[in-house]
Amino acid sequence: MLKLDGVQAYYGYIHALKDVTLEVPEGKIVTLLGANGAGKTTTLKTISGLMKPQKGKITLDNSSIIGLPPEKIVAKGIVQSPEGRQIFPDLTVEENLRIGAYTRKDKKNISKTFDEVYEYFPILKERKNQEGGTLSGGEQQMLAIGRALMAKPKILLLDEPSLGLAPLIVQNIFKIIKQINEEGTTILLVEQNAMKALAVADYGYILETGKVVQHNFASKLINDDSVKKAYLGE
Ligand code: ATP
Repeated sequence: MLKLDGVQAYYGYIHALKDVTLEVPEGKIVTLLGANGAGKTTTLKTISGLMKPQKGKITLDNSSIIGLPPEKIVAKGIVQSPEGRQIFPDLTVEENLRIGAYTRKDKKNISKTFDEVYEYFPILKERKNQEGGTLSGGEQQMLAIGRALMAKPKILLLDEPSLGLAPLIVQNIFKIIKQINEEGTTILLVEQNAMKALAVADYGYILETGKVVQHNFASKLINDDSVKKAYLGE
């Protein structure tokens, strides 16, 4: 459903994306792996409309989304949960979540989505009147994902959901990512934690200095010697 074809993007003179071609089929979890600075976040920015690629195509169900403003892209069902969480620290958990639903037309169904989000993340329900900034790192990450879910995405873009979290919390977050997918949301997952990402994903792409250098089924990449050596810490 989501396709990138030969996408190139620059920050001034920095050629951040040189050739990104990838597909995110409906119902799957696709992971985008690579070292720091490989271009993972930039790829997500070109999809969510925060950055316009200089070359290449980005299509959702065969229609181009390049040049659309970010809120239109959200309305089409592509919603990003950003790196570093970027929640609103002075707003309560519930207010943060409500903001995620701002582009929805079906306002009367919003309370149902609140229930769904609170089911994935019961801790957010317990803390619903607490200010976002007072949550722990793991809880803020849950809030960022929950806020993205409030928009009822078809495709959820997750930027490093495990960054800086303790191993047990990481485990929990990946379990919930799998659950969200099983309940019908397609996911593009950007991760540094290659092992964990490949364990939940169907397919993986490896990015090096702005180019896709390898892609395959996650079950294949996880057993590939060169991948293990470079990205899985072996
Ligand atoms: P990380 O995991 O460290 O975020 P990444 O794979 O997401 O890495 P990007 O953030 O997409 O990488 O960065 C790709 C390249 O673009 C890097 O060389 C980076 O220095 C550069 N870059 C990213 N953001 C900017 C910016 N706002 N201005 C200039 N250069 C940038």
